[in-house]
Amino acid sequence: MTTKQIIEKIAAIRQAHPGNLMARHFDGDYFRQLAKVDQQRLLKIIATGIENPDSAMGAYAMNPQDYDFFTPQLDPMIRDFHGIAGDVEIAQKHDWDLAGAKCDLGLIDQRLKDVSMRVRVARNVASFPLPGAMSKEQRVAFEDVAITAFAKLIEDEAYGGRYLSITPGSAYEIDAAEYDARVAAHQMFKDMSADRYLSVAGISADWPYGRGMYVSRDEDFLVWVGEEDHLRIMAMLKGGDLGALFGRLHKGLEVLGALLPDFATSPVYGNVTSCPTNLGAGMRASLHMKLPHLSKNGTDLEPVKAEAKKLGLAVRGAGGEHSDAGTDGLVDVSPAARLGVSEMQIMQRLYDGAAALWGLERDLAKSVEGA
Ligand code: ADP
Ligand code: MG
Repeated sequence: MTTKQIIEKIAAIRQAHPGNLMARHFDGDYFRQLAKVDQQRLLKIIATGIENPDSAMGAYAMNPQDYDFFTPQLDPMIRDFHGIAGDVEIAQKHDWDLAGAKCDLGLIDQRLKDVSMRVRVARNVASFPLPGAMSKEQRVAFEDVAITAFAKLIEDEAYGGRYLSITPGSAYEIDAAEYDARVAAHQMFKDMSADRYLSVAGISADWPYGRGMYVSRDEDFLVWVGEEDHLRIMAMLKGGDLGALFGRLHKGLEVLGALLPDFATSPVYGNVTSCPTNLGAGMRASLHMKLPHLSKNGTDLEPVKAEAKKLGLAVRGAGGEHSDAGTDGLVDVSPAARLGVSEMQIMQRLYDGAAALWGLERDLAKSVEGA
């Protein structure tokens, strides 16, 4: 395709798909003045939004430096998604101090004591390209870097556990049945090669080489290797106490971080991630909550999405992104913003938002029972 054809194609996507942030912020003049080699680099970054016009974001970074180099394309998309005005300075702050904050949903209602909680952070090491641009050799080499760190983590009293690889021939390889069971238990990631957004970006290439997961003995601290980011580090607990959940992740992140090469960070955007939606804290904290009345038994997520949006929360199905809700109305709610908010603020938004949604659900339940 010629430069002119590319610019026209993206203009047509902008018309037909106003939600595609890549197309919304694509500037033909900026693209035209880039050197040919940089045009090719940018095209690889935005290929997913061109080939998948229904994308919400439509771009994945290929190297940590991309955010600094292609700022005229990426910064407006990032600000648009995270709700940050053009003239406001972004300087990602980190704060894990939950002292004095209300954290325990179980104190609001006994029934919230059995919600399932998960918090994950995305991290990439500075010494490798991001997953969309890794070769098969680099994927396997990165997994070896992670395995070296895990070999030490295994000795840790609180975070010790084991590593499970799906790289064919790995010394840590698990069989298909164990992989499936771990996916069903929400511990392991799904086959990424089935995801067209990730495939076009090259993120799921060479599947399943270089992929695996670490799991602590008590199975509540987990690390994904080789998904959308080099590492997804997470804690999963039941019981509604977000303070316990965040504490478990924070300490584990410090212990593991000290065993790994330096993470890629940006002074502006904080943690550097493949998808611009994850920049900043790189954190997604979610609750699996049963909201049958707000979701018409899981058949219609629109009412719960609309209420959640007012509270700064996003809603997914209980099987993860792009999945449907369970028939019992089980949904995944999580704060939408990750950039420009601290870890502590994300926890507070989830607590406040979940409390408010739970109040709405109870009111609806009462009105049905009263009728
Ligand atoms: P992310 O992109 O944040 O890693 P996904 O939406 O891809 O999350 O989901 C990854 C997996 O984590 C899925 O199996 C999903 O069901 C599971 N999951 C997410 N939140 C929770 C939660 N609060 N409790 C249990 N499992 C969860
Ligand atoms: Mg995901």
